[in-house]
Amino acid sequence: MQQPVLTIVVPCYNEQEVLTETMRQLKTLLTDMIQEQTISAESRLLFVDDGSKDSTWEIIYKESIQGNVVRGLKLARNVGHQNALLAGLFSAKRMADCVISIDADLQDDIEVIRDFVAKYKEGYQVVYGVRSKRDSDSFFKRTTAEGFYKIMRKMGVNLVYNHADYRLMSKRAIEELERYQESNLFLRGIVPLIGFKSTSVYYERKERLAGVTKYPLKKMLAFALDGITSFSVTPIRFVLLVGCLSFFVSLIFGAYFLSLKFFGSTETGWTSLITSIWLIGGLQLIGLGLVGEYIGKIYKETKRRPKYNVDIDLFNLGRPIVEDSP
Ligand code: UDP
Ligand code: MG
Repeated sequence: MQQPVLTIVVPCYNEQEVLTETMRQLKTLLTDMIQEQTISAESRLLFVDDGSKDSTWEIIYKESIQGNVVRGLKLARNVGHQNALLAGLFSAKRMADCVISIDADLQDDIEVIRDFVAKYKEGYQVVYGVRSKRDSDSFFKRTTAEGFYKIMRKMGVNLVYNHADYRLMSKRAIEELERYQESNLFLRGIVPLIGFKSTSVYYERKERLAGVTKYPLKKMLAFALDGITSFSVTPIRFVLLVGCLSFFVSLIFGAYFLSLKFFGSTETGWTSLITSIWLIGGLQLIGLGLVGEYIGKIYKETKRRPKYNVDIDLFNLGRPIVEDSP
């Protein structure tokens, strides 16, 4: 039986401290798997350099031209983890039967790759890597992440709990993914939307091997807000609801104050006035901000800018490319 061609895609942004070790470990695993004949000898590691400012590309380039297993894709500028990943997936699917995406910092247990491939052979088109424990992440990261998953679930977005971007996708699934043309792709939300037979494998998430996180708080918040507003209009509905409620309440209070004016004695009124101005003003600003967020999204979509630009593509190094006929 012919074994599947596997490509492992690794997005890298300023990862020089950890990259050599990551490469070594992944290379060992891949060559072992090729030797055991679990995967085809055409299988590759594809490192995507997301516009790094350090020597990340030099490391990738050197390995690419020296050996058979490592390949590189250099993007023209930094486009963020999600887009770098897409660049890798779309590039890899030209040659591979299935593609696994993994971070460069070895936080995800690479031995699970064997389980991914086993599941693929059983006929699964998408396999999610799920963290069974998150002890290595900080308390803050864990609780905020948990809150995020809960909010997304409540809003009806079908996320795989505790799954980040460690997953296997078949060539077919990636081809379907390519049809989602929105510019702000939140992969964790989109991939479950595609459908296909899917399953999960479990592993323990470790600490970053070296280097620092490329997701500081600001980026994490932006990522979460993007995730939420890309998939649901519930927040904007909530604002509408609050607006309606406050309108209703103000009617009742208005009637009450009027009755006081005619049948009782009126207050000087400063306290209630100033509180309501602040309250309503705040609510309006929140509402405006949310509407702005969605309008901003529409604005971005209408421009249809490419999600990434490729500078150097070494993926096909040493083998002819057979493009699919359209
Ligand atoms: N990354 C990227 N572009 C960026 C930021 C991050 O390609 O603009 C890569 C990074 O090199 C790593 C992966 O995305 O391989 C996940 O980043 P990181 O491990 O820093 O995130 P965390 O695990 O802390 O959430
Ligand atoms: Mg990490």
